[in-house]
Amino acid sequence: MKNSLILVVNFGSTSIKVDLVEPNNGESQGSLSIERLGSGKAFFRINGSTPSVTPDNAVLSLQQLLPALLDSRRDSVCASAHRVVHGGKQFTTPTLVSERVLEQLDQLSHLAPLHNPPAITGIRLTADLLPDLPHFAVFDTAFHRTIPLEASTYALPRALAKKHEIQRYGFHGISHAFTIDQVARHLNVRSTDLKIVSCHLGGGCSVCAVNRGKSVGTSMGMTPLEGLVMSTRCGDLDPAIPLLLQKEAGYSVDEVQELLTKQSGLMGLTGGVSDFRDIEQAALQGDESCRQSLDIFCHRLLQSIGSHLAVLNHADALVFTGGIGENSWWVRQQICERLSNFGVQYSRLRNEIGIPSSEQLVSEVTSAESRLRVFVSRSNEAWAIAKNVVPYLNKSVKL
Ligand code: ADP
Repeated sequence: MKNSLILVVNFGSTSIKVDLVEPNNGESQGSLSIERLGSGKAFFRINGSTPSVTPDNAVLSLQQLLPALLDSRRDSVCASAHRVVHGGKQFTTPTLVSERVLEQLDQLSHLAPLHNPPAITGIRLTADLLPDLPHFAVFDTAFHRTIPLEASTYALPRALAKKHEIQRYGFHGISHAFTIDQVARHLNVRSTDLKIVSCHLGGGCSVCAVNRGKSVGTSMGMTPLEGLVMSTRCGDLDPAIPLLLQKEAGYSVDEVQELLTKQSGLMGLTGGVSDFRDIEQAALQGDESCRQSLDIFCHRLLQSIGSHLAVLNHADALVFTGGIGENSWWVRQQICERLSNFGVQYSRLRNEIGIPSSEQLVSEVTSAESRLRVFVSRSNEAWAIAKNVVPYLNKSVKL
């Protein structure tokens, strides 16, 4: 297939995922992952190979490994697409990258200091290695541009909020949009026919209310720190707590940031375990702090789903995606059981099976009489990002 693949780059703070994606069907023609960057133990895999050591420096590592991934397929690639977490108010559609765009992205780095700078590095590096291709930025915030004012505004003095661009932006938009699209396809309707509450539960977690294809509310806020309990992020807190930590416990601003983003959430609650599988396993073996952590996770998730169902007033479906949402039947069971008065009647067997085959993208866990239907949807972020840029390919010019 000549000149049809999109090189999708997801450049995170400690990991880089690169996929060569066929945008028509999501097939991956090659993948590279570099993990644990900055830990002194960085490793990479190409096409699922066994892990091999790589330089701990992201730029150096990608410079060495990207040519190996592209290998003989360089001529098959028509563009690169980069996940950028924060597009602020300016970037509401996939954007062809230019020097000017990179400068604007850099100016938004204060809104996502852990996420935007590595993405910019990834774009520059890919543009250097593939100078003849168009390069696109795809934004996690873009899907949420439709959130109405009453849901995006914090109760702060208006002038101050305006000056510092303080508002709810919302994240995981690429995943929520892809997920509702998949559910609509599964039901053989248009996404604009549906009202859905979408739960992306992975390392980061968020709930989103989608009214006829448009995001109208989400649990993440100005940054991806607000909302649910996450792997290492605290989610919602009384805003007085960070102040108290600084005033009474002697924390610096940077230490508070580190605490809330990297040492809290499940990691903080369990006393050091952030991987959901490990927490479920430990809870099964009687670890009380892991069991409580799961209860806290589910309680916050239930509250958030409830408030987003209320925003929609009526919903056709609730959908789970992301590593936890797709794989933890236990979490889905906790939520389904507690939503019985909202019309959820789930099938234990269907829920425990989840998505039965690797080709299938969506499956239903509720039974035929359920008023609110519940689905599991397999996430494929690389395909979602690739699909985003297809309509813009003809308009492209090089960096
Ligand atoms: P990321 O946000 O890093 O892309 P993922 O969407 O891959 O994260 O989700 C990672 C989370 O999913 C981890 O906490 C992991 O433990 C959890 N997870 C993966 N498989 C399972 C499983 N079989 N059961 C429960 N949790 C799982």
